[in-house]
Amino acid sequence: MEKKKFDVVIIGAGPGGYVAAIKAAQNGKSVALVEKSFLGGTCLNVGCIPTKALLANASVMHKIKMAGEYGIETGPVSVNYLKMKTRKDAVVESVRNSLGGLLKANKITVFSGKAEFQSPTEIKVVGEENCILLAENVVIATGSQPLDIPAFPCDHTRILNSTSVLELTQLPKTMAIIGGGYIGCEFATLFAELGVEVTILEALPSILALQGKTVADVMTKAYQKQGVNVQTDVFVEGIDHEGDGVSIKLKDKEPVKADLALVAVGRKINSQGLSLEKAGVQVGPKGEILVNEKMETNVTGIYAIGDVTGKFLLAHVASHQGLIAVSNILGEEMHMHYNAVPAVIFTTPEIATVGMTEEEAKEKGYNIKVGKFPFSALGKSVATLDTEGFAEVITDRATGQILGAQVVGHEASTLIAEMTLAINNELTADCVFDTIHAHPTVAEAWMEAALLANETPIHWPPTRKK
Ligand code: FAD
Ligand code: NAD
Repeated sequence: MEKKKFDVVIIGAGPGGYVAAIKAAQNGKSVALVEKSFLGGTCLNVGCIPTKALLANASVMHKIKMAGEYGIETGPVSVNYLKMKTRKDAVVESVRNSLGGLLKANKITVFSGKAEFQSPTEIKVVGEENCILLAENVVIATGSQPLDIPAFPCDHTRILNSTSVLELTQLPKTMAIIGGGYIGCEFATLFAELGVEVTILEALPSILALQGKTVADVMTKAYQKQGVNVQTDVFVEGIDHEGDGVSIKLKDKEPVKADLALVAVGRKINSQGLSLEKAGVQVGPKGEILVNEKMETNVTGIYAIGDVTGKFLLAHVASHQGLIAVSNILGEEMHMHYNAVPAVIFTTPEIATVGMTEEEAKEKGYNIKVGKFPFSALGKSVATLDTEGFAEVITDRATGQILGAQVVGHEASTLIAEMTLAINNELTADCVFDTIHAHPTVAEAWMEAALLANETPIHWPPTRKK
């Protein structure tokens, strides 16, 4: 096989790998980027982008349902799901083409094929072109895939996962979603808004357990209002075909019937098939590649980033880890920190969090203050009929430093940026309420929440005892 030498070889062209590739190329490195499937990885092809393209339809439908409240009378509304799917596919293709152009403009050599280690510095590529790539530095960015459960494997016709559900061309009447995490909740919002009867089956005592109790409670109530049947403390043990649909077997409970089941119970890390043993790279119990804060594996010159490291399975974390890994390759020492990672769940209402939840801050021994401001008390939200939800800041009572923030409501995905900047820069509550916020905007909710944490609210009754 022909041997080709590069400064850096990157395996996987998701948001981790392609961002790392661009940074390395911009700094004068010759870069090979190997991708066995489509440029953009999970995020662009079967994750963030297609789901948000579909969810855009759900938010239009949500507004249409509220039209009467704005004084707009509508006639019968119908959904053309095939058109929605076609638009989603076009969005993905267009962004993918732009990415291809960007890689080309940065003079990155893309290899379309599957990569596998031969040694710590040799990567065999099998695909459109078969060759051996030689490099002093390798970045593994192979991501993750939907977790298949042996007791109820996906058949991709009636038992779907997050990838095959994107191929639906018509809506079912009923859908049971196994798992009330990120994926389960986003698809529940999508399908429920478009008129599907949705049941969420979650094994834990609450949906979105990792987001903290306050967020989970608000979202559970929102789902109940939207007609989503949320069943918690139910463990799915199997799924059978029954009639034209499925019957979902629950531990110690009656089965649930639906036209389709969507399995959204987590992700499997893509570390198999890379022949990591030939490079001597160590993995943890879930197959996650073990890395230090510089994104280095145990083998000098080999880095790992993104979902394959099993840290936070989020696109922006993968990209940031990619930038850190390449900085270290370039000899500019940088460390990865996870104290200010924003996370957004694109439900209706949207959920966004950064830093610690109340529960986490208390567990870590902080004496905290919490300022929670409801959007129902904010002029802009009342004006636009977006009053559902709240903005909450958690501060350290001793110093006033902001430890965490949660926001549930309209534009939460955009609002979280302010708190991410605050936490990343170790700002205190007074930095937020001393900053002029434009009026009327939903961002004022942070100012009010920070004032509440300080017990000096303006647009809320006094909380401090005189
Ligand atoms: P990936 O994006 O998984 O890319 C890895 C790439 O490596 C793939 O293209 C794969 O084909 C390739 N590869 C694997 N093995 C090899 C090999 N041996 N040789 C060559 N190539 C290989 N995150 C967010 O932040 N926001 C969201 O809104 C969001 N929505 C999501 C919705 C869904 C339905 C899903 C499933 C995920 C979502 N995520 C979201 C998570 C996000 O997609 C991932 O965290 C992100 O894609 C991880 O990036 P990555 O670069 O680590 O890996
Ligand atoms: P998840 O870990 O968020 O949720 C899986 C849920 O399934 C858990 O609540 C778990 O208790 C439940 N579960 C597991 N087995 C079960 C069973 N047998 N019966 C009933 N419930 C069961 O995983 P996910 O929703 O598949 O998402 C995977 C990852 O993808 C997320 O962790 C997130 O990092 C990423 N993601 C991010 C976004 C975003 O940023 N907006 C969107 C989608 C996915």
